Amino acid sequence: MFFRPGTLVWPQRQWLQAFFALTWVGAALWFAYFVVPNFVRFVPGLFGLLVVAFSLVWGCFAVYCPKCRLRLLFYAWSNEAVSGWLAWVLTCSKCARCGYDAQVSR
Ligand SMILES: [Zn+2]
Repeated sequence: MFFRPGTLVWPQRQWLQAFFALTWVGAALWFAYFVVPNFVRFVPGLFGLLVVAFSLVWGCFAVYCPKCRLRLLFYAWSNEAVSGWLAWVLTCSKCARCGYDAQVSR
């Protein structure tokens, strides 16, 4: 659905999916603490924040260029616009550092 063959993240799409799932679950827990504090207490809320932090760090290491291991998420966050990093990660087929082309190597 979001992932296309011939992109850099295609071989690692399950990691990226896990990253999104973890981030959403953690963020939902953290926000639920503010929205319904009687239902979600501080400790589960804090746990949600930790899950988000963990998934961000882990996502940085789990999603990389197959050739030079450029950390794609980290690269996108530091070089792409706030609104454009996700589209870049999902559609990028050529590594920005080593020039590895996932279209050719497919
Ligand atoms: Zn590369």
